[in-house]
Amino acid sequence: MSEPLFAKIALVGIGLIGSSLARVIRREKLAGELVVSTRRPETLARAAELGLGDRYTADAAEAVADADLVVVSVPVGASGDVAATIGPALKPGAIVTDAGSTKGSVIAQMQPHMPAGVHFIPGHPIAGTEHSGPDAGFAELFAGRWCILTPLAGTDAAALDRLTRFWQRCGSTVETMDPQHHDMVLAIVSHLPHIIAYNIVGTADDLEAVTKSEVIKYSASGFRDFTRLAASDPTMWRDVCLHNREAILEMLARFSEDLSSLQRAIRWGDGDKLFDLFARTRAVRRSIIEAGQEIDAPDFGRLARAERS
Ligand code: NAP
Repeated sequence: MSEPLFAKIALVGIGLIGSSLARVIRREKLAGELVVSTRRPETLARAAELGLGDRYTADAAEAVADADLVVVSVPVGASGDVAATIGPALKPGAIVTDAGSTKGSVIAQMQPHMPAGVHFIPGHPIAGTEHSGPDAGFAELFAGRWCILTPLAGTDAAALDRLTRFWQRCGSTVETMDPQHHDMVLAIVSHLPHIIAYNIVGTADDLEAVTKSEVIKYSASGFRDFTRLAASDPTMWRDVCLHNREAILEMLARFSEDLSSLQRAIRWGDGDKLFDLFARTRAVRRSIIEAGQEIDAPDFGRLARAERS
């Protein structure tokens, strides 16, 4: 049997991302030993019931001692505190990465706590669902998805190569990117859609009670697809908004301008303008399906994925 990729892996945070990693690490035998750490005793107990690791501890510093790979999967606003806790316990040569949805802020919070000789390589798997907690994870979450690594200047090439191989074994295709560029790209492809969804569902929720019941009744006509995004974890998304502020505000400003232009086209009955935009956006969806990032089914393949999880 081949050697595991890492003798010891420590997962700090065992929600959707951490527990999906735990499951794929076990399936692919990527760790000699897998240690699981999380903040609340009830989450730790649930991770143990699910058999996600070999060892469990609420003490993140104890979890990372002697670990060759540490993956931090907590809300981005908690990254600094976690880094301060684990920093002194990290062994020289260890690779530390994270799964946070924003990169500039996570780097600013974590890097100061990383001792010399530790390879800190921030990352972001572009894979997720609207569910959270250890029960929500599944081993196939990262299969066929991108994982973006944002290595800092002077990153050790061998460490980067090892972390790349780790994510590849989890099923992902790895791309490296500058952290600021990552934050700008993710603001438009992920953060803005979630904010728009939260906003439209919030607007509907503010409507008069009688209309509200009709919103639920007739939701399949469009509203329903927004509710999936708007059901995402409030803590995670509060932190994303607070920690990718500049890029999100930039994209929101562009969005508002374009929305005003659309509003004007509707007001003035400019059908050509509406048709051109809708035709252009339909082509975008086709390219996403062609790129294998979605399937052309009415439920977007989500039923099949939910049954697997
Ligand atoms: P999750 O399911 O809500 O799990 C969060 C984990 O972080 C839990 O183990 C939780 O521990 C712990 N945690 C929460 N608050 C904490 C704090 N203040 N200090 C220390 N630990 C804390 O979240 P997730 O979906 O796995 O997301 C984890 C990270 O991955 C986030 O940074 C998110 O931006 C990123 N990400 C998420 C997705 C997605 O679709 N969900 C996709 C890509 C990347 P307790 O339960 O013990 O409190």
